[in-house]
Amino acid sequence: MTPPPVRPLTILLVEDNPGDARLIQLMLDEVAGLRVQLVRAERLATGLAFVAVQPFDAALLDLSLPDSHGLATFTRFQQAAPGLPIVVLSGLADEQVALHAVAAGAQDYLVKGQVDSTLLGRALGYAIERKRADEERRQLLAREEAAHAATERLAAERAAVLGQIADGVLIADPAGQITFVNGAAQRLYGMAGVELQAGQPFGMHDLLTTAGTPYPLAELPIARALASGETISDAEWCLRRANGAIITIQGSATPVYADGGLLLGAVLTFRDVTARRDLARQREDFFANASHDLRTPLAAIKASTGVILANEPPGMPPALHRMLTNIEAAAGEMSRLVDDLLELARLEAQKTAFHPLVNDLRALAGRVTRAIEPLVLERGQHLTLNVPAAPVLAAIDTPLIERALLNLLGNAQKYGRDGGSIRLDLSAQRDEAIFSVADDGPGISTEDQERIFERFYRPSGTSARAVVGSGLGLPIVRTTAERHGGRAWIESTPGVGSIFRLALPLAPPHSPCDDALTPLQGASV
Ligand code: ADP
Repeated sequence: MTPPPVRPLTILLVEDNPGDARLIQLMLDEVAGLRVQLVRAERLATGLAFVAVQPFDAALLDLSLPDSHGLATFTRFQQAAPGLPIVVLSGLADEQVALHAVAAGAQDYLVKGQVDSTLLGRALGYAIERKRADEERRQLLAREEAAHAATERLAAERAAVLGQIADGVLIADPAGQITFVNGAAQRLYGMAGVELQAGQPFGMHDLLTTAGTPYPLAELPIARALASGETISDAEWCLRRANGAIITIQGSATPVYADGGLLLGAVLTFRDVTARRDLARQREDFFANASHDLRTPLAAIKASTGVILANEPPGMPPALHRMLTNIEAAAGEMSRLVDDLLELARLEAQKTAFHPLVNDLRALAGRVTRAIEPLVLERGQHLTLNVPAAPVLAAIDTPLIERALLNLLGNAQKYGRDGGSIRLDLSAQRDEAIFSVADDGPGISTEDQERIFERFYRPSGTSARAVVGSGLGLPIVRTTAERHGGRAWIESTPGVGSIFRLALPLAPPHSPCDDALTPLQGASV
């Protein structure tokens, strides 16, 4: 295949001397492998007119022309054709001027009378190549500058947007150095912008656990997000402000990755929840105190009515007897409610005695099933228990978990339908033991599911309202699960039934707790 024909170079020669012009034409014709189309201008003005209307590959420019002399010739020509490679032609006398022209941007200069065709061809070739390289460099630089400007604009936008956010925002690079702090973060730290600055390691600031102990550096939320890539959501920490005051903050730490998966850093967002925490604590204290104070008079009412009923004088009017029985029943109901309140308050305040020991949960499942059986039979319901063949070991506080499971089974029995089915399943999934209590009762609407674990929450307008209850059973279940490092949740379809699940961390295979393994009661469930 023949190669495509090489396009001839179009060269503008600005030269008033016809002899020199002819010589240059002859020399160009002799350059091997070079095809040149030469356009000649005798005056600078003509040359300027040519470059204004026609593209050229390069120009050969004599500095001494009838209408211009010296460096001014080059300057004016270059202004008119800034992108055109120019090789200056000079006489021996104005070689200094030619050098100035090169300093001002000419690609090269040739001294007339000292030029041959090889030199001329090479000078033109280099000039065109150099100009092309210059142009590429210029474009690259322009692109770099544009990218830099865009980055700066983005950073300014980010600072402006994050600055408006009410939450504190801290951004750290992969090495854990702070690269951005917004105004809210500075205010929460109680620092006037100088001390808490970008460029500092995150660990130097006083983040404490909610128990008030300092975090080891590697366990700071930002460090964890960077080291393991985990996202820490809605955690609570304490923060020692610059003035020494300690506030409770709630926040999240998230690693940030580029599109290709490269770790760019981590972001910590946080807000002051001290007032909310204090309020919650006051509420917990109030419930705990009120429940505690109610216990004694209630016990007195129960004991007194019990004594009266046990020693009922002959001929007691039936109406009076009924009233006394009602008082005894109501006092019993009230003391259960007070017990629940107190238990929940203690659990939430982490004051309940907590003695986790490794147990086979199958045995516990068997016990609670047997305990609820009489109530289930009363409503003609059918209760089944499914446990795996292998032991399911978890470190639990047995009375707490039994109570939580009885709450779930009791609800299935109370709110399930007459003659319905109730199932208690136990399974080991990954690192969790999961109890599932399923019924085929009325189910719970999606909105109610979101609030069902809230204290005192009882869905309105359902038949469930007719059942006596306090709205404390499920909060106790969830708090108990969380106390064990587990979780509790609901899956329900209205009209079909509900499944409540209680998940607990499985004991590690050779846990040191194994030494304390409690005797398995009724392991053959
Ligand atoms: P309580 O049973 O004392 O009202 P809980 O916290 O145990 O308190 O339950 C809260 C509410 O959730 C109940 O009042 C009931 O309306 C609903 N609920 C709980 N379990 C079930 C269930 N298995 N089926 C339908 N509704 C349920």
